[in-house]
Amino acid sequence: MALKFFNTLSRSVEEFVPLDPNGKAIGMYCCGPTVYDFGHIGNFRTFVFSDLVRRYLQFRGYAVTHVMNITDVEDKIIKRVHETGLGLREYVSKFEDAFLEDMQTLGCLHPHHLPRATEHIAGMIQIIDALMKRGIAYKAPDGSVYFSIEKYQGCGCRYGQLVNLNFDQMRMGERVASDEYPKDSLADFALWKARVPEDGAVFWPSPWGEGRPGWHIECSAMSMKLLGTSFDLHLGGEDLAFPHHEDEIAQSEGAGVQKPGQRFVKYWLHGAHLLVEGKKMSKSLGNFFTLRDLLAKGYGGREIRYLLISSHYRATFNFTLEGLAGGRAALGRLDECLDKLRELAGTTSAPSDQKFLDDFTAALDDDLNVAAGWGVVFEWVGEMNRSLAANQLAAAQASSALAAWQQVDSVLGLGRKAGVEAPPEIMDLLDQRQAARKAKDFKRADAVRDELTAKGWLIEDTPKGPKLKRI
Ligand SMILES: [Zn+2]
Repeated sequence: MALKFFNTLSRSVEEFVPLDPNGKAIGMYCCGPTVYDFGHIGNFRTFVFSDLVRRYLQFRGYAVTHVMNITDVEDKIIKRVHETGLGLREYVSKFEDAFLEDMQTLGCLHPHHLPRATEHIAGMIQIIDALMKRGIAYKAPDGSVYFSIEKYQGCGCRYGQLVNLNFDQMRMGERVASDEYPKDSLADFALWKARVPEDGAVFWPSPWGEGRPGWHIECSAMSMKLLGTSFDLHLGGEDLAFPHHEDEIAQSEGAGVQKPGQRFVKYWLHGAHLLVEGKKMSKSLGNFFTLRDLLAKGYGGREIRYLLISSHYRATFNFTLEGLAGGRAALGRLDECLDKLRELAGTTSAPSDQKFLDDFTAALDDDLNVAAGWGVVFEWVGEMNRSLAANQLAAAQASSALAAWQQVDSVLGLGRKAGVEAPPEIMDLLDQRQAARKAKDFKRADAVRDELTAKGWLIEDTPKGPKLKRI
């Protein structure tokens, strides 16, 4: 079986063949958060989906370089900075930290690179310069630099690779300055925005005057800098396909930096929208949840992750609180089975149960069909439970099952039940206690332990380190 993905570029399911002649190294870029506010659950569906793609590629033996950018300069951020009177870094750092914490809560692996847009301005200027030299970009009377779609098409390039655009119904030559614009406005978009009073202190020098980059050029610069001018995978939510990703292709390929015959990106993967309680999320409908809102309602990161990866990434998913409760029950069944297997296996070791691994792989090779993957997992849980109940399982079989589960879980990323559900402030207290013990300040260590007990958490010291248990 070969691994296959639905490539938005070809609108078809294709066999995944890396650019690396050795077939091993993979470059993967995912558009990261715009850190102007706390991330909502719709954003996190995309990020957990990228985490799943990365984990599965690693499971399949590929060496993945995972890049996720942090958009720390963009229209919405500038607006908030202007409103609050805070400095740019001062404003965004709070949301950047919160985002990284949320990703950890959801069990996402830390990307290998997390570039900030503001640290790659020189690279953006370089691409814009190349586009200017090729006559594809121009400076407009407002002092900003725009990408000319007409000139790009005149070079034999095609605009509209990820989405079908109806050029007959669109007026060429119009310009759009804002980062986000609708699909029906096929317009020259801003690469470099001339400084305006509302930008405050947010501006950089450039050959075209002081200003700031457009949002789209940010991802072209960061992805090509860290992964090369041609790389394997680019991921994002389906709402980013146009204009953001289309513009990324236009800028990156328009700059003429790829080797002949090579594309900017080989495979484009887009995750579908998330509905919440059956409707599009909106603050006025009361179905708008940040991750933090859900944690405050008593749900754990593990349950939320489970629900976010319970269905196929290309299917619109209806996220509900009832679904979270169902997730809790499903994970409870799984954990109970794993606990029994651990008890039976003891210290016995055995090679992984290959059938379980093969079935799981067959499901996920098919365009990351994680719903089918869960089917395999729960069928396996059922079988294990039946064998356990009938006393038909030997310690070696339990160990073999657990070894396979460990590999499957390297993809699903649920981790172990114990300890992972403690909120960050509890984990912080645990760290403080460990630090006190290390410094032989046992009085302080005991005081922190008492504080944890008062908050409802018990510390169990095990040979593998301390574990937290709910009282
Ligand atoms: Zn992007």
